[in-house]
Amino acid sequence: MPLTPIDGHTQLVGLIGWPVEHSMSPAMHNAAFEARDLNWRYLPLPVPPGRVEAAARGLAALGFRGANLTVPHKRSVLQALDTIAPEAKALGAINTIVVERDAEGTTTLSGHNTDAAGFIGALRAAGFDPTGSSVVVVGAGGAARAVVFGLLKAEAASVLVLNRTLERARALVADLGRSSQSILRAEVLDEETLLETVRAADLLVNATPIGMWPRVDASIWPVEIPLPSCLTVFDLVYNPLETKLLRQARRSGAEALDGLDMLVRQGALAFEMWTGVEAPVEIMRGTCERALNK
Ligand code: NAP
Repeated sequence: MPLTPIDGHTQLVGLIGWPVEHSMSPAMHNAAFEARDLNWRYLPLPVPPGRVEAAARGLAALGFRGANLTVPHKRSVLQALDTIAPEAKALGAINTIVVERDAEGTTTLSGHNTDAAGFIGALRAAGFDPTGSSVVVVGAGGAARAVVFGLLKAEAASVLVLNRTLERARALVADLGRSSQSILRAEVLDEETLLETVRAADLLVNATPIGMWPRVDASIWPVEIPLPSCLTVFDLVYNPLETKLLRQARRSGAEALDGLDMLVRQGALAFEMWTGVEAPVEIMRGTCERALNK
């Protein structure tokens, strides 16, 4: 079915970021609107640093139903919002705004973060149950925070954060680990620690850009050593879809999961918040795969 023509009833959402030109989100969401026969459009909204508060308020003034947020606005938008969902508050980052309008036309901007739920949804869809699992997360940036938050909420048995900069990993543990200090630990990322700790883990997550295009020959795992065959390896990088780390995992007989499913599922959750309609996850993934293969 073709996209419904734009008319006076068309509902608008978009992606606020800087830059936004290369994002797959407009194609992914517009394909989802088309599949569900919704008269909605998703627009790229380039907003320079320092202008996100004005842009967020502008969403309500222009009648938008919501937006996604990406670099560099995920944190700075917080002060423009009326309400902040608990997971977004805990992560200190917003990736979705919903504009709510009451019967009198008064608008409220609510902020959400769907990254953690997107990550856990992707894991479960692949048949991995995070509850009771032992996990090594490499990286301590924004993505790692969402991953760790999701794992703690899903009641993982232990989560070890390995990062090049130990202070950043410690800050993550201090922010997210208060009530589960012994479950969540931080260590510096070095080869010996990685090899030793992964041997006892169920899941290894790469939450760094290592292996991302154009540096596709890089991997967090030393080339000459096989990964444990009972391990599941989740690489948050999705460009390329098959990273060097995932090739190493497959060659070792381990389960290999790419980052695209997390990207699609965080988008699907935003779609459902805005529209109240179940997201066509497979169509959204297919659209992204075609964009990545171009
Ligand atoms: P970020 O906040 O900039 O954090 C980057 C992390 O990677 C930091 O912990 C950094 O360590 C580490 N790192 C970077 N280069 C490194 C290197 N050469 N050696 C060792 N460690 C290195 O980035 P982010 O937002 O967390 O994103 C991380 C990755 O996840 C990106 O590739 C992004 O595309 C991907 N991602 C995917 C999804 C998805 O839906 N699949 C969602 C979000 C992000 P230091 O602290 O030492 O600098």
